[in-house]
Amino acid sequence: MEEIERCEECGKVLKDKSHEPYCEQCDEKLDKQFDDIEDNILIYKELLDSEIKVLEKFEDTDIKDLFKRVYEKLSREEGGLKEESIVVLNKLKSSFSLKESELGIKELPEIREIKKAKPKDQCPECDKKIKEDFNLCPYCGYRLKKDIEINK
Ligand SMILES: [Zn+2]
Ligand SMILES: [Zn+2]
Repeated sequence: MEEIERCEECGKVLKDKSHEPYCEQCDEKLDKQFDDIEDNILIYKELLDSEIKVLEKFEDTDIKDLFKRVYEKLSREEGGLKEESIVVLNKLKSSFSLKESELGIKELPEIREIKKAKPKDQCPECDKKIKEDFNLCPYCGYRLKKDIEINK
């Protein structure tokens, strides 16, 4: 019995196996998505969960090469590696269990997110409206004042 191979992406029977495990169209489409993701990381310092799903379809070596490319480019930006760049690199790193040692780079600082400055009447944790003189957020319990005065 002859084994029929199908494209892993669209399920079409693979006649041309040069793009295995995908058909030519899907292979092209995925490569294009891969390039878009790379741009998104470099330009917007963004890596969406849906993009991680696309990257999962690629080989480990592709992901490592992608990491090295964006790491190098982001490091060369004026002022060096910015916090937002570190956040996106950390996301890529942890999503694919990459290690600095195998990538040949210095250990990245553990920055996972950037807390944006929020308006004073908004909880930085849960975004709910609060009063400026609150010590704790009544919705999520977030400590709003660093040094809460203790009444003696
Ligand atoms: Zn296909
Ligand atoms: Zn809150």
